Amino acid sequence: MNRRHFAKLSALTLAGTQLRASAQSNHNTTSADGRVGIAAVGLGSIAEVFMRAATASPNTRITGLVTGHPAEKGVKFGALYNVAGNSIYTYETFDRIRDNPAINAVYIALPNSMHCEYTVRAAEAGKHVLCEKPMAISSAECRRMIEACRRADVKLMIGYRTHYDPTFRKLREMVHSGALGEIQSYQGGFYGMRNKQQWRLDRSLAGGGSLMDLGIYPLNTIRWFTGEEPDIYRGLVATRDKSGVFASVEQSIDWMLKFPSGILASGGSSYGQSGTNFLEINGTTGHLRLEPAFVYGDAILMYTGMSGDTKLSGSGPVYDPDQFVSEATHFADCVLKNSQPATPGEEGLADLLAIEGIYAAAGSPIA
Ligand code: NAD
Repeated sequence: MNRRHFAKLSALTLAGTQLRASAQSNHNTTSADGRVGIAAVGLGSIAEVFMRAATASPNTRITGLVTGHPAEKGVKFGALYNVAGNSIYTYETFDRIRDNPAINAVYIALPNSMHCEYTVRAAEAGKHVLCEKPMAISSAECRRMIEACRRADVKLMIGYRTHYDPTFRKLREMVHSGALGEIQSYQGGFYGMRNKQQWRLDRSLAGGGSLMDLGIYPLNTIRWFTGEEPDIYRGLVATRDKSGVFASVEQSIDWMLKFPSGILASGGSSYGQSGTNFLEINGTTGHLRLEPAFVYGDAILMYTGMSGDTKLSGSGPVYDPDQFVSEATHFADCVLKNSQPATPGEEGLADLLAIEGIYAAAGSPIA
C-alpha cells in the first residue's frame, strides 16, 4: 500500500470511528437515576420474571411497557413498576419509543417469530436490544437483526441466562482446566409438558417445536462449552400425539452432532414427555452430570462426577429471578461501558444455524 492510499484509509477509518462515536453519544444510555432504562416488549410470563430482575439489578430499571393490552396489563405493570402512562405503548405505537429519553433499551419477550421485527424497529428507534432466545426463527432473520443493530450502533444481546449463572461458569471452567481430561462427548436434554393451546405449537409464531424452546438449552450449552460449531448433523423428529395439536411442529426431537475436534454430542427435547433436564460431560479421565440443569425459579442446580479418583459435587440455587438479574446487569454494563455482550447476536445466529442443520438432518427443514 502506498503512502497516499494509507493516508486515505486512515482518514476514512478515523471518520468511521468519529461517526460511530457520535452515533453512540446520541444514544441516551441511562435514565435520570443513572440506570439503563428498559422497556419490556410483550408482557407475558417471562417478561414478568425479567421485570422483577430488572428492578433487583443495581443498574437497570423498567421505564417503559409495550403491550397489546394497555388498559389491563399496561395499567397493572405500570403501577407495579412506576411507569408513567405516557411510557406505555402498544405494538402500533411502539416506534414512538424513539422520542422517549427514559427508554434506553428494550427487552423483547414476544413469540419467536416477532423477535426480528421488534429488534429491527427498536434499533431504528436508537434503542439497545436484549432479545429472548431463540433469537429468531431463521438464520436469515438473525443476520437482519445483527445488521440493523450494527447500522444503528446499538447493543444486541440474546437472553442466554445460563451464561450468567455461576454453576454453569464453574462447570465450563472445570472442562477448560482439563479436570476431566480430553472431552469426548456431551449429552443433554430438556423435556416438559406444554400447555397445548400456546403459540409455541403454531409454527408461524414459534418457528419450530420443542427444539426452538427447550432443546436450544443443551444445544447452546454444548456449543458454548466446546467453543466449536458442529459440522455433522443427525436428527429424528416424532409426534405420537395424534390429536392434531402438533399439526405444525414436532412433539419430540433427538439429535446427534459431531464437532471438528471429534467431540460428539447428543440431545433431545419434547413437549410431551415427563422428563428431566440435564447435561452430561464425558472426558478421558473424568465426567460430570448436572441435573436439574436448565430450569429456573424454585430450583437448585446439582452436579456430581469424578476427576480422576476424586469425587466432584456441588450445587447452586436458581431462585427467581437470580439468573435474570445477572443477565440484566451484564447487559446494562455493556450499554454503560460500550462493551460487547458475552452473548451477542452472533451467538443467537450460531444456534439458529445449528437448529436449521438439525431440522434439515431430521427431514423437517425450517429454512
Ligand atoms: P407468553 O405467551 O407468556 O408471552 C408472550 C407475550 O407476547 C404475551 O404477553 C402476549 O400477549 C404477547 N403477544 C403479542 N403478540 C402475540 C401473538 N401474536 N401471539 C401470542 N402472543 C403475543 O410467552 P413467554 O413464555 O413469556 O415467552 C416469550 C419469549 O421468551 C419466547 O421467545 C420464549 O422462547 C422466551 N422465553 C425465555 C425463557 C428463558 O428462560 N430465558 C423462558 C420462557 C420463555
